[in-house]
Amino acid sequence: MADLALPSHPTDWPADAIRQVGYRTVDMIAAYLQELPEGPVFRPVPPALVRDAFSTLMPEDGADPAAVLDTIAAQILPYPFGNGHPRFSGWVRSPPAVIGIFADALAAAMNPSVAGGNHAAVHVEHQVVGWFKELLGLPPTAAGQLVSGGSAAALTALGVARHVAAQRAGVDVRVAGLQHTATTFTAYVSPETHGCHRKALELLGLGSEQIRQIDTDAALRMAPADLDAALVRDQRAGCTPVAVIASVGSVSTGAIDPLEAIADICAHHGVWLHVDGAYGAPAMLVDEYAAALAPLARADSVGVDPHKWMYVPIEAGLVLVRDAAAMRDAYSLVPPYLRTDGDPDGVGGPPWFSEFGLQQTRGFRALKVWAAIMHLGVAGYRAAIEHTLGLAAHLANRVRQAPELELWEPTSLSIVCFRYVGDGIGGGEEPVPLDALNRALCTELQLSGEVFPTSTVVRGRTYLRSCLLHPASTMDDIDRLVHAVRLTGRRLAQAHAGGPARPYADDVNDR
Ligand SMILES: *Cc1c(COP(=O)(O)O)cnc(C)c1O
Repeated sequence: MADLALPSHPTDWPADAIRQVGYRTVDMIAAYLQELPEGPVFRPVPPALVRDAFSTLMPEDGADPAAVLDTIAAQILPYPFGNGHPRFSGWVRSPPAVIGIFADALAAAMNPSVAGGNHAAVHVEHQVVGWFKELLGLPPTAAGQLVSGGSAAALTALGVARHVAAQRAGVDVRVAGLQHTATTFTAYVSPETHGCHRKALELLGLGSEQIRQIDTDAALRMAPADLDAALVRDQRAGCTPVAVIASVGSVSTGAIDPLEAIADICAHHGVWLHVDGAYGAPAMLVDEYAAALAPLARADSVGVDPHKWMYVPIEAGLVLVRDAAAMRDAYSLVPPYLRTDGDPDGVGGPPWFSEFGLQQTRGFRALKVWAAIMHLGVAGYRAAIEHTLGLAAHLANRVRQAPELELWEPTSLSIVCFRYVGDGIGGGEEPVPLDALNRALCTELQLSGEVFPTSTVVRGRTYLRSCLLHPASTMDDIDRLVHAVRLTGRRLAQAHAGGPARPYADDVNDR
């Protein structure tokens, strides 16, 4: 590509230059995705690279596109955080649907703002939103839009919930804010609820004194009786509940809150139900979880992350709100008397997304979601989700069979939490401090490049945590994880006990 002249204008590239740079980029994408599974799951960024490459000042003079791509190839592509590798099982991260990579490039080429208007991107987003309404069982009259992720979905939805709750308490929150209101606004979560809801509630004016932590049962599901009692207590005290936040697939263990019972309680008390389906909602496509997730249809608002179990390249979150008028009331800056049902055949198009959410200029996120769903179809998603559930079941079984490992049960969805307890060193006294051991074990495994679980704390104890989302992970990949955990765990336990560290290989052959 050395012959390619430096285009002098940012947008006005000759078609040949676009092709040349584009083909090279495609080659880089292909090589990246092909080589990823063969390399280490993770390798830290060398400090020298951070110092020398990622600390330079903004250049005065531009460079040839070939030079820019060379730098990306040499300094950026070799240091991902593991996601996309078949032995990566950290957090809730998936590999990208390849078609989504290209759809994102095409969306960037069009570069529309999807604030609104009568252009294709707006209609594609409405189609995608419509698909999810149908999937989750919300009525066609519900409103929704794509956002950056579950956090933005939570903020957007809870902003509507606050608006509605305040209205019922006689407060127009858009006029008075939450200053000087006679009532205290409250919200209801469990200790397992994702932290993004706390952030959202804090931004909306509710602090930890107003956020009620509802206890969970032995399976870490929100306890409906405790929720009911808290709502009774607060309503008697003159508080105004803003929302109950239930999770279908908690981020720690995948626990699914008892939706039907929670929806009943919310209906009884007239309280908004927000369901966090960021991770777990797509599981409603498979028989095993369809019934547990069906009451999602009763939610007032839902967040789902297509960038997790649906393989859409990050960022792609979705928020749905049953009451479209309330969503518009909470965000629109157009006075009610000027609001229209849109101008479907003219320039304006349907009612603008910007009237229903936080953003004005909005990216064409919908194209990558649309393309991934068009390409995979419901059947493709069902197969991928079933496969990853099978991986999780296999991992849970392997852990049950390993005497020195302890499984957190019940497992749920595609998350498996387990910890190293050593041969008979678990139980009562715990001569080896197991939390510290498992934290060290997690770090060591991550640095090994062989596997990449993360960790979580369940009922005060540290567990390794694997969230299986990769459709190309195999049972062998799972076996390698278990093998690495047993070997490394034994080595760390022996080192801690002051005994001779046994060799790292050969002594536990469970592959
Ligand atoms: C990831 C996640 C979130 C937060 O969503 P982001 O896309 O990271 O903003 C919320 N809840 C659950 C259960 C999640 O897994």
